[in-house]
Order: sequence, then structure tokens, then C-alpha cells
Amino acid sequence: MTCRLHRETINVSTSERFDVIDVTGQIEHIVEASDISKGILHAYTPHTTAAITINEAEPGLIKDLITYIKELTKPGYKWMHNRIDNNAHAHLGQSTYGHSVTVPVEGGRLMLGTWQRILLVEMDGPRTRKIIVTVLGVD
Ligand code: ZN
Repeated sequence: MTCRLHRETINVSTSERFDVIDVTGQIEHIVEASDISKGILHAYTPHTTAAITINEAEPGLIKDLITYIKELTKPGYKWMHNRIDNNAHAHLGQSTYGHSVTVPVEGGRLMLGTWQRILLVEMDGPRTRKIIVTVLGVD
């Protein structure tokens, strides 16, 4: 048995302070390019104010993902980090949704459920965000 690792970084431009971008297609292309048929996909954001998560890309739910963070971090409470750069909500949202996702790969395809999509959640944009995509496979 041999292991193979394929890694690429993608850049995603966000257009607003809060934004949700479906990156599933770009990640699927990297899995295809890796030519790895059985293994694990890992997608990682090296940021503290943007997150990556898996959920349904239904337009209402995409808005809910943002509203949820806004509600959790309502102004009024004295968020200590706001003394520095006024984006405590984005850091707390990042810790809520997380910095990486892992998906099994089988037959060269992501084993996502019917409604699952990989979503980048921007909370302090607009910016260009990196996603480091690693496909680790066994032959
Ligand atoms: Zn900050």
C-alpha cells in the first residue's frame, strides 16, 4: 500500500463584510486533478475571521448562517477584542463554524450527502481568502 498526497491552495474573493461562498465545485476539481480514488479530502482556511463548514446551500439557510453569528455577537456586550479592531464577531464566528472540513473520497469523488455543500463563511470581508486543499490517498 502506498500513500499519495496532493495539495493545492485556492483563493476565494468575498464581496461583502458577511458572505457565504459555495466552494464545492472548486474542491471537486482538485480531487479530480489529484487522480486519487480512495482517501480523505481536507480543506483548511488559515484565517481567524473566516470559516469553512459543510451545510445546505439553500439561500435562506445561507442568510441564517450569518444571522446566527450576528445574533450570538450582538452589540451591547462589551466584547474585549473590539478594543483592537472591532471584529470580535468574526473571530467568534470562526471558532463557532471552524477552520477545516474533512470528507471521505471514494471512487475519485467526495462522499458528500445529497444536500451537503462546502461553504466558506466570510465574516470580516471583503477580502481574498485562502483555502488549502489536501487530498490524501492510498493505492
Ligand atoms: Zn480582530
